[in-house]
Amino acid sequence: MKKYLPEGEHGSKIRLDAIEFPDATLRVGRVRPRPPSTIKFLGREITVSFRPESEMPNHDGEWVENKMAITIREGLRALEEADTTLHELCHGVSDLMMLNLSERQVRCLATALIGIFQDNPELASYLTRRMNNEATT
Ligand SMILES: [Zn+2]
Repeated sequence: MKKYLPEGEHGSKIRLDAIEFPDATLRVGRVRPRPPSTIKFLGREITVSFRPESEMPNHDGEWVENKMAITIREGLRALEEADTTLHELCHGVSDLMMLNLSERQVRCLATALIGIFQDNPELASYLTRRMNNEATT
């Protein structure tokens, strides 16, 4: 679960808004992309859905293993939504692969990956194309 952390209560935890993402607003398109409604993982399908803030007042997202479901709070800033989606997916990977990652490990992993993709926008495309054995030129 990625909890909403009000100012002054985040202690030593890493906050996404504490990391600088230059040009973040320039990379957000006019059409708001949404994550796929299902994410395939090891032959399973993880559902991804959104809930209004009134139903998720204390956290940005959640992973429910027995439902294979990720829920994201509506109304997050685009970068927070992406980070939360990846964060909850990391919880799913941790549970399904029995990695037993701590909340801090999940938070750091997801935020690090988002930062890498943010700073290297060509990387995701490259990886996808190479996985599919496509030419990269
Ligand atoms: Zn979490």
